[in-house]
Amino acid sequence: MADNKRDYYEVLGVDKSASAEDIKKAYRKNALKYHPDRNPGNQEAEEKFKELGEAYEVLSDSDKRAKYDQFGFAGVDPSYGAGAGGDYGDFGGFGGFGGFGGFGDIFSEVFGGGSSRRTRNAPRRGEDIAARLDITFEEAAFGTEKEVSYYRIENCGSCNGTGSADGQVETCSQCHGSGQVRVTQNMMGMAFQSTSTCPQCSGRGKIIKTPCSTCRGKAKVRKNHTVRARVPAGINEGQSIRLQGEGCVGSNGGPNGDVLVEMFIKRHPIFQREGMEVLCEIPITFTQAALGAQIQVPTLDGKTTFDIPEGTQTGREFILPGKGIPQVGNPKRRGNQRIYVVVETPTKLTKEQKELLKKLDATWDTKATPKRKKFFDTLKDFFD
Ligand SMILES: [Zn+2]
Ligand SMILES: [Zn+2]
Repeated sequence: MADNKRDYYEVLGVDKSASAEDIKKAYRKNALKYHPDRNPGNQEAEEKFKELGEAYEVLSDSDKRAKYDQFGFAGVDPSYGAGAGGDYGDFGGFGGFGGFGGFGDIFSEVFGGGSSRRTRNAPRRGEDIAARLDITFEEAAFGTEKEVSYYRIENCGSCNGTGSADGQVETCSQCHGSGQVRVTQNMMGMAFQSTSTCPQCSGRGKIIKTPCSTCRGKAKVRKNHTVRARVPAGINEGQSIRLQGEGCVGSNGGPNGDVLVEMFIKRHPIFQREGMEVLCEIPITFTQAALGAQIQVPTLDGKTTFDIPEGTQTGREFILPGKGIPQVGNPKRRGNQRIYVVVETPTKLTKEQKELLKKLDATWDTKATPKRKKFFDTLKDFFD
């Protein structure tokens, strides 16, 4: 996806508070201007026309518009940020957003004359929503329960989802509730006979004489919603949990969509994570490395002791079995913790310490540092 995509509101030339009617008008005006039939062979016009179609597809749909407002392109384009690996089945990445349906559908909706459009009054599942949840390293490891807030489309509370201020909803007299009528019309010099969205009810099949003022007759509103999400132990960055039925409300008796909650794990000051393994770097002193020592090691289960053997080299890795991240769905199975010991060369020594080290240095023989001996033997051969 190109980074230079223009903001959808900018494409249509409307501002963010534009009504559905404004958006439709803006699209109609621009689409006529850039329609390929009027601009034969004009590449730029064609691009503009496509751009318009995409912008209108999103902004004309209240669910998609809500997602776009909240997440930008990532909220409406399935190729953005598709998360979560396949191993975790139920926790899989975003699904069901669907691609763009092509601008043919939209064009016919705005101008009439389409044939294949689904009727608006058929039951339709609500849209899925993407939400994010920030959790700590430990919460990801051991699971948690947290509140997630996001915007979704709900039935309007003021009119109980009817769209009518007085509760009166009549069946449309022109289409008898089907939402579609047969029409013959001319569009850009061509005659069409087709089934079209009913102009009297805009395809809803219903007529509302006194629209509800809260939702302006749309029967739905965009609202902030909070839900408690159970996060399973072992979940990783970028994976999502699906909360069934917590997405946008369905239409005409269709089921609610879902919400897909994507996990963002905060950085831990000590631990890093690689799949089910916990990584941790531990500085030790030069004498601990030489003589061996019992050191304190932080783990997800608290402090534990670990014996560093005599003569440990810097960068050596040790494994603490079963101290890693639990497996999703099978938390008794855990990964390992890996610790890297790093020998810290002492700095800011006192005069006395320096004296002691000099005395120590005078005692070194080649047996104590075989690597060094080997290196200098090679070096000698090299120069001779
Ligand atoms: Zn209402
Ligand atoms: Zn009608």
